[in-house]
Amino acid sequence: MSSHLQSWNRLPKLNPESIYALNDYFVPSSDITPYPLIAHGNGRSYGDVCLNDKGTLLHTLHLDRFISFDRTNGILRCESGVTLQEVLNLIVPNGWFLPCTPGTQFATVGGAVANDVHGKNHHDQGSFGHHITAFELRRSTGETLICTPSQNTNMFKATIGGLGLTGLVSWVEIQLMPINNPWMWVESHRFENLDEFWHLNSEAEKQWPYTVSWIDCLASGNSQGRGILFAGQHAANQNYMPVYKPSGKKIPIDPPISLVNNLSLRGFNAIYYRQPVKPQGGLTHYIPYFYPLDAIEDWNRIYGHKGFYQYQCVLPPTSAKEGTSELLDAIAQSGQGSFLAVLKTFGSLESIGMLSFARPGTTLALDFPNRGQKTIELFKRLDSIVSTAGGALYPAKDARMPSGLFKSGYPQWEEFTNYIDPAFSSHFWQRVTL
Ligand SMILES: Cc1cc2nc3c(=O)[nH]c(=O)nc-3n(C[C@H](O)[C@H](O)[C@H](O)COP(=O)(O)OP(=O)(O)OC[C@H]3O[C@@H](n4cnc5c(N)ncnc54)[C@H](O)[C@@H]3O)c2cc1C
Repeated sequence: MSSHLQSWNRLPKLNPESIYALNDYFVPSSDITPYPLIAHGNGRSYGDVCLNDKGTLLHTLHLDRFISFDRTNGILRCESGVTLQEVLNLIVPNGWFLPCTPGTQFATVGGAVANDVHGKNHHDQGSFGHHITAFELRRSTGETLICTPSQNTNMFKATIGGLGLTGLVSWVEIQLMPINNPWMWVESHRFENLDEFWHLNSEAEKQWPYTVSWIDCLASGNSQGRGILFAGQHAANQNYMPVYKPSGKKIPIDPPISLVNNLSLRGFNAIYYRQPVKPQGGLTHYIPYFYPLDAIEDWNRIYGHKGFYQYQCVLPPTSAKEGTSELLDAIAQSGQGSFLAVLKTFGSLESIGMLSFARPGTTLALDFPNRGQKTIELFKRLDSIVSTAGGALYPAKDARMPSGLFKSGYPQWEEFTNYIDPAFSSHFWQRVTL
């Protein structure tokens, strides 16, 4: 079968030779060719960690069964193609929640493991890998390994954040977190510049399990880094529960050019920044709080058929303030960027994965319409700031990082190569290591 599977930003455009839709009895083996193989979950990565050219994609969405759910202790075991949305639909009515969730509920559990995804509560709960109690790994060598924090430990550490390269994760067991109801208590606070952000954010992190800030990436001078901080926690028991109505918006077509340009961006950012904030707090359903973008189906189409890039970096605490300011200077000067600009600090909990992205420091994430060379030139400038600051880029959000920046950002990459399944590789891996 030829492929139309792509990743979320629709870049790079690659042609795997075949797509193999997995079933429960699947074992990666020499029968499945051509090599290399790589798992493809729901394609919510931006870039090429879930793609390869001329190889085979192992599509996991049919690995969609729940295996067990201990409702008393909140331990869930499910196949790796189950999406986070399907997990939440099961666990939330039973008083449980994912202890870590990215900004989309359309990622699969296998994808969440392979990128060791993080959420708004990293400073409190770490990343996805911190909550995995076990998983099964199927390798092309014929081995089936059960990996836990104390069994096959090195393979456990290599596979969490291992970009799908250690083999196929067939099921995952997660320790869930108790909640009272599906609602969140959320406060929002405007800040006028980066200095205010650092102060507000550090105070908020002391009190709130979830914090994240939107920033106006084009604001400069005294307003550089202005934005809104959203702090949240799961709501206490309520006497009155509001009714949640999901929105059904959709981007119906691919516009011929990106709808995100300097003019639309400046207008949007100015309006968004002036929105009424709620410093006293209010109730918000967990879906719009955690997954605001999921409300618009196919929102990635607003960038037109040329697609877009996301640039997500992390800078260590010692260089985060200066580095963030330099990055925002470069972005504002370029006039590129998008209304999706997010700033967040990670906590000090060390990630489990050898290649995990999340680490102590500050992460900045922005989308950029693909304007060809102009955008690539901007990224070179940003790369040099990240590199000087001792930072790293996030493979899950990458379609072009240079090899040197990957290797300096992931010093354990050579040790990691000992755990790669001999039949597995991705376009990303070939790009950054060969
Ligand atoms: C709107 C939006 C918001 C996002 N917000 C965040 C965020 O806040 N934090 C964050 O960390 N990420 C975020 N992401 C990125 C996303 O969570 C990750 O890229 C995630 O890995 C996507 O999961 P997927 O199932 O779509 O996997 P894919 O994109 O299909 O694959 C991702 C990786 O997982 C591997 N993989 C998938 N299934 C398996 C398996 N069964 N066994 C082995 N390897 C496997 C693939 O080979 C690939 O390397 C966001 C993405 C979107 C679109």
